[in-house]
Amino acid sequence: MVRETIAFVNQKGGVGKTTTAVSLAAALGRRGERVLLIDLDAQANATSAAGVADVPGPSIYEALMLEVEAKDCVVRVEDEQFDLLPATRELSGAEVELAPAMAREQRLKNLIEPLADDYDWIFIDCPPSLGVLTVNALTAATSVVIPVQCEYLPMEGLASLMETLALVRNNLNPRLRTLGLVLTMLDRRTRLAREVAADVMTHFPRQTFTTVIPRAVSIAEAPSHGQSIFRYSPGSRAATAYRRLAVELTERVEVSA
Ligand code: ADP
Ligand code: MG
Repeated sequence: MVRETIAFVNQKGGVGKTTTAVSLAAALGRRGERVLLIDLDAQANATSAAGVADVPGPSIYEALMLEVEAKDCVVRVEDEQFDLLPATRELSGAEVELAPAMAREQRLKNLIEPLADDYDWIFIDCPPSLGVLTVNALTAATSVVIPVQCEYLPMEGLASLMETLALVRNNLNPRLRTLGLVLTMLDRRTRLAREVAADVMTHFPRQTFTTVIPRAVSIAEAPSHGQSIFRYSPGSRAATAYRRLAVELTERVEVSA
């Protein structure tokens, strides 16, 4: 049975959702865990970062909108040792097309239910909005991980995200919990970065992961090579940080199980 289905969520773009989802999928895959990464963003950044330049068959769009089975869309990413449910640009239509649809918030949940025995972890990389696709992710997930970029004051955005999470808990998915906030792109030389990190830790003392992801050129370069940080630069500080975050994530799941 799948241990945890995690939505990587933050309505702000560019905060490290995709990087964190792909890196943790690769970290756990390398440890022999069975991981499925679902790309739920029409920008398809997780798909290209996983090295899938051309999606060979149906994508998450066909699965959500045309009743193609999830297992028929899954692509094995051999080099990274996880499975990918890829996205294409087509997914941008789903936000509108789902609006009047039946059981529209439950589509992803229903879609992945048959896969529960095939994976230890299911990760969902969310788009940068709180629209119907993200609500689908939050309905399908057992928990959320919230990446927070250390270069931008996040409190207002986090407050509306927390409201959305509360709404989803009250109406759609009572078991949804917040596994943690991940501070990303920390440049210790800048004062704003240190302030943001301190601010988030003050507001969310128990929920903020101890592991902080540093700003690193290697991690910005890796996706354009279709490689995770563990292939592109295994000895880098960023690789070490994401390896440590994977351990911390696993421990949190075990403690709270
Ligand atoms: P999101 O999915 O939230 O939009 P991404 O993970 O795509 O965010 O990250 C946004 C951009 O920042 C990408 O170009 C990515 O390569 C880069 N990036 C992510 N994490 C780091 C980091 N720790 N250091 C430097 N660049 C990073
Ligand atoms: Mg993204």
